[in-house]
This record gives sequence, structure tokens and C-alpha cells, in this order.
Amino acid sequence: MTLALDLDVRSQFPQLVAHPDVAYLDSAATAQKPQAVLDAVVAYLSSENANAARGTYPWANRTTARIAQTRDQVRRFLDDASPATSGVHFVSGTTEGLRSVALDWLPTVLSDGDEIIVPFADHSANLVPWLDAAEMLRRQGTRVVVRPTPYDEAHDYDVGRLPVGPRTRLIAATHVHHVYGNDMNVHRLRAAAGPEVAICLDAAQSFGHLPLSVRELDVDFVVFSGHKAMALPGVGAVWARNRRGPAFTPGGWNGTPNTAGIVSLAAAMDWLSSVGLSRISSSIVALGARLTAGLATMPSYEVLGCQDSLAAGSPVQRRHGIVTFRHREIDSNDLGFILAADGLLVRADGHCQGTQGEKTSSVRVSFQVYNTAEEVDRLLATLSALES
Ligand code: PMP
Repeated sequence: MTLALDLDVRSQFPQLVAHPDVAYLDSAATAQKPQAVLDAVVAYLSSENANAARGTYPWANRTTARIAQTRDQVRRFLDDASPATSGVHFVSGTTEGLRSVALDWLPTVLSDGDEIIVPFADHSANLVPWLDAAEMLRRQGTRVVVRPTPYDEAHDYDVGRLPVGPRTRLIAATHVHHVYGNDMNVHRLRAAAGPEVAICLDAAQSFGHLPLSVRELDVDFVVFSGHKAMALPGVGAVWARNRRGPAFTPGGWNGTPNTAGIVSLAAAMDWLSSVGLSRISSSIVALGARLTAGLATMPSYEVLGCQDSLAAGSPVQRRHGIVTFRHREIDSNDLGFILAADGLLVRADGHCQGTQGEKTSSVRVSFQVYNTAEEVDRLLATLSALES
């Protein structure tokens, strides 16, 4: 990717344009918004705002139609081969979406003695709801066996050791890990799981970052947040292979949907498609590789996660724009403040990992297509100056 293209993309993000000295390196927390998304929301709210499904006048009908169109757009965006039978349910984000699958849908398919496989070292939003569902069912007299997903040394799922048995009903998985940045071998889960086991994918860090095909991944649920993919906060979706997915909004159309959020999601998907998800993916992978290579030359830093993945060049083990590390002596939160003072905005803490996650805090750098190689070099220069 050339510098000219970088600048062209960056110029579409008003917050970045307004702060030319800031390197925003925290897109895994939330992405900046392109002007096209902001314009779409303002246009909607200043010319067509109405509630959906109240159908006696054009604004309401247009809003209802927009929501249906955005559902179809999500299906296309996810390369859904069976749009006539799949469901798209708008939720507030990944956390709510995963809870809905766990608490609204899962109990309807589990019987006493059934098993679920859940990832204890992934984001807690993809762990706690499954444990809560199992506990709720246990109190109602239905025993659910919760099996932890095994990981290998590179922090991928160890698919060969997946504890699938005749009573397994669900595997909860994460597409791209929010701390290590690696693709979690999700494309290998279906073969290991067999055709009957439901696979629910947390796509919080992959939706809008790389081409995501439910046809290729062969999963049953995909859950994502709009705000990490350049839409507004407060909107996300659950794609369910089968329309009979969870009954998300109590009362269905009787609840008011996040119309402006849904409009923003449609505009964000348009924008992402116009840039191209392959281009976005290769750009953030390259930035991650540049940072990892730079850190590898500095003995004061320890990079977490898949150490050998870049050297191995395996396409499935690449870091998708997320690199997490620690300084061997400087506390990670202190390091976060030091970097922020230099205009380098990163995330520093324990990153909401599940109970098998990292035990001490770390610094996470995460990229989107508006980031540049110059920003990585600037970060590396500051980190280098902190070497002990
Ligand atoms: N899963 C993963 C992998 C995430 O990175 C995040 C966001 N940190 C979530 C779930 C939760 O997303 P949200 O806060 O948008 O609900």
C-alpha cells in the first residue's frame, strides 16, 4: 500500500484529520468513523427519522425498508449462501449478541447431560454468557457439561484435541483473538465438530477487518459490533444460519430498534466494501508485521501470543492488526500513559480476557486501514528510547 493511498483513507476520518499529531492505535477497542458514516447518520436523522414498522406514512416505511435492506447487506457482507433461510438480528453489540445466543437460543436446544465447548482464554464476553446459561439450566434441573476449548502454544485452538463427543451441542469460538491478534483456526472447526454441532463465532475483531465468509467458515452464528467496524456504538448483529435463531428483541417489532445505528452500520459496510476488505486486511497485517519485527529487535519487550507465526508465514496464523506486548520493567499502564503523552494512543490493561487469560496487564496496539507505517515507526522510536 502506498503512502498516497494511506493519506487518502486517513483524510476521510475527521477526528484523525483534526489531530494530525495523534497516532490512534486502539481500533480493537473502537474504530474511528469515516465522514461517509457520519453524513449518513446526520442525513437520516435530519430528513427521514421515524420509528420502524409503524407504517402509515413514508418516513416510517422508509425506515422499515432500510432495516430490511441492512439485514440483506449483512448477509451479503458475510457471504451468506442461503439468505432466504438465515436471520439477522440487530443487537447493541457483540456482548449483547453473544448473551442472546447463550441465554435465548442455547437453552432451547439443550437436554440434560448435553455438552458445550467454550473458550476460557478468549474475551470474557464469549465466556461468561455460556457459563451463565449452563448455571441457569443447572438451577432448573438440566445438567450441562462445560468443556474448555484446548489451545496450542501459538494460542490457536488446538483443533486436534477438541473434546467433541456425541452429546456436544455447541462450540463457542472467536475468529480473531483480541489480545494475540491471530486467526483462531476457526476454518478447521467444522471438520472437527461434525455437521450437527452448532458453532457460534465471536467476530468482534474480524468483522470489517478481513473478508468473512460464513460459506467458507461453515458456522451457525456470527456475532459482531458495529463500532469496531466504523459504525456507531450501540449497534451490532447476530447472523444466524437458521431463521429460528434467538428471539432477540422481546416482542419483536414492538421494540424500537436503534435506527440511526443501523443506518450507520449500512454506511460503514458500504465504506468498507468500497475500500475493499482484502486491502484492509493486508494493510493491517503488514502494520502488525512491521511492529512485531521492530519489537523483536528490542530485548526490553516481550510480545505475547503467536511468536513464530510471521516467520512461518502461515496465512491462518497471521496477526490481524493486533500486537500485544510488555516492557520487562515498566508497568504496562505506566507505559500506556508514557505513550499517550507522545500522542501514541494504545490500550493498556488486562483486556477483559477470560479466566485462562494473561495474568498481568499488557499494552495492546491495534490497527485499522487509516493507520500508517510512519505511525508504527514513530511508536517503535518511542519504545526504543525506553529500552533499559
Ligand atoms: N469479543 C471480542 C473478541 C472483543 O474484542 C470485544 C470488544 N473488546 C467483545 C467481544 C465485546 O464487544 P462489545 O464491547 O462491542 O460488546
